Formats: sequence, structure tokens, C-alpha cells
Amino acid sequence: MNEPIERAAAELADEPSVLVCAGSGLSAESGVPTFRGDDGMFRDPDIARLTHVQTFASDRKEMMRWYQERREKLDTLQPNPGHLALIELCRTGDYTIATQNVDHLLEAAADEVGYRPPIHHLHGSLLVVRCHKCGNAFEDLSLDLVKLPTCERCGGPLRPGVVWFGESLPADALQKSAEAAERADVCIVVGTSGLVHPAASLPQIADQRGATLIEINPNPTELSDICDIVIRGKSGEVLPALAEKIV
Ligand code: NAD
Ligand code: ZN
Repeated sequence: MNEPIERAAAELADEPSVLVCAGSGLSAESGVPTFRGDDGMFRDPDIARLTHVQTFASDRKEMMRWYQERREKLDTLQPNPGHLALIELCRTGDYTIATQNVDHLLEAAADEVGYRPPIHHLHGSLLVVRCHKCGNAFEDLSLDLVKLPTCERCGGPLRPGVVWFGESLPADALQKSAEAAERADVCIVVGTSGLVHPAASLPQIADQRGATLIEINPNPTELSDICDIVIRGKSGEVLPALAEKIV
């Protein structure tokens, strides 16, 4: 009973209300590089520039080349055992997922499992194209952003539907996630460095409301100190082991 995974399973056994805060580590085993992990892209100072809203005005084409490359990879990605086990877990209680990931792998896992919990994309989605001027947004993977397409409605520049540094988070996703944090009995923090706010504030809200915090990450993070149970391991291994004990 002393193993962290056993303690986590005990917390999740009784149909609790759970907020899952997911970061890029959850998709790492699907071959999507993280920003700040061992192979973290943030080691490259260029990436910090390419993910800042100001760059859209100064170097749009270069920025769109980087995003378009990532959009084109989406079709080749598959959910990993961590995504699938997480969705299975969601069936066992009142679960809400707040993800910082801009891929669609949780939705793909939900389709595979045949169950879709509430999934809030705090940082938007790479599948979506949005007008930078009027906000007109639609799912479209075929559009080539490097060709600098414009909005049919207002002529404004089209961009990926993600949140850049220097921008606010989508209000609805943030509000629903914060509500889930406030009512959570348990908060699972998986694959996030806990460095990007306000996403990283959600586990803090849950903590202040008395939730039990469970971290799943191979490395220590900014949030490790406030977590009650820390499971050091990869999400693609830990989540299936955890789900097996509950589902
Ligand atoms: P981050 O890059 O800051 O941190 C990644 C974390 O994942 C690290 O703590 C690392 O130790 C952990 N990790 C690495 N491999 C793991 C594994 N197999 N299992 C569990 N954890 C693992 O990521 P973040 O906290 O999500 O912050 C990042 C920002 O990067 C967000 O704005 C997000 O939108 C963006 N981002 C998204 C994607 C994606 O959509 N898949 C990929 C890269 C970055
Ligand atoms: Zn427009």
C-alpha cells in the first residue's frame, strides 16, 4: 500500500471528481517533442520566438513554416497507451481533462475507446485555422499556412488556432477547467513542467480546495512540491498500470 501507484489507485477507486491537467509529456511517447523535457524544444531559443505573438507581425512566413510542418505531422500521429488508459480511467468517475496540448491525440484515443470525457484545450488546437483579425475559426488541415491565406469574411490573416505567448487563453476552456479544479477530489498532473501559467494555476486551485494531487512525470517539476503522491515514470507506462488497478 506504500507504493505511490497503489496510493493513487486508492484515491481514484471510489468514483471521485477528478481534474486531469495534461502537458506535452503525455504525447511524448507518440513522437511529439516536448518543449522543456530532456529533448525539449525550448533548448532552441528560436522556438521561444516562433511561439510568440509578436513574431506573427515580424516574421509571419517563417513562423507559419514551423507551424505548418507540425500540422502536417498530425495525420501521422497515433495515441499512445497513456492517452488510451487515461480515457479508460475517465469512465470510472466525474473526470474533466484540461490539456495544454495542441494535438488531437486525446480525441483520437476517445474515438478508439468509444467514450469521450470533457476535454478542454487551454492552448487551442493545431487542427484549427483562425483569423487573426475577426476570430473566424474552423477545422482545416488541408490549408497551407505558408501560402499566407486570408480570411474569407474580413480579409484578415489566417493563423493556426493555438495560443501564443503574449495571448490570453480561451475563456470558456479556462473557466470550465477552473470549475473542475474547484470541485475536484483528485487532480492528476501528467506530463507538464508546470511552468506555463495560467495552466499551471489549475492544480494550485485544486490543492487550495483540498484535492489530493497526483503527479505523473519522469522528472521533478515546479508542481512536485505541492503534489501529495508523486509517480516518477512515463505516462505511457504509469497510466496503463494505474487504469488496470481501477477499471
Ligand atoms: P513542457 O514541454 O514544458 O514539459 C514537458 C514535461 O513532460 C516535462 O516535465 C517532462 O519531464 C515531461 N515528460 C517528458 N516525457 C514524458 C513522458 N513520457 N511521460 C510523462 N511526462 C513526460 O510541456 P508543458 O508543461 O505542456 O508546457 C508546454 C507548452 O508547450 C504548452 O504551451 C503546450 O501548448 C506546448 N506544447 C504542446 C505540445 C503538444 O501539443 N503535444 C508539444 C510541445 C509543446
Ligand atoms: Zn476574418
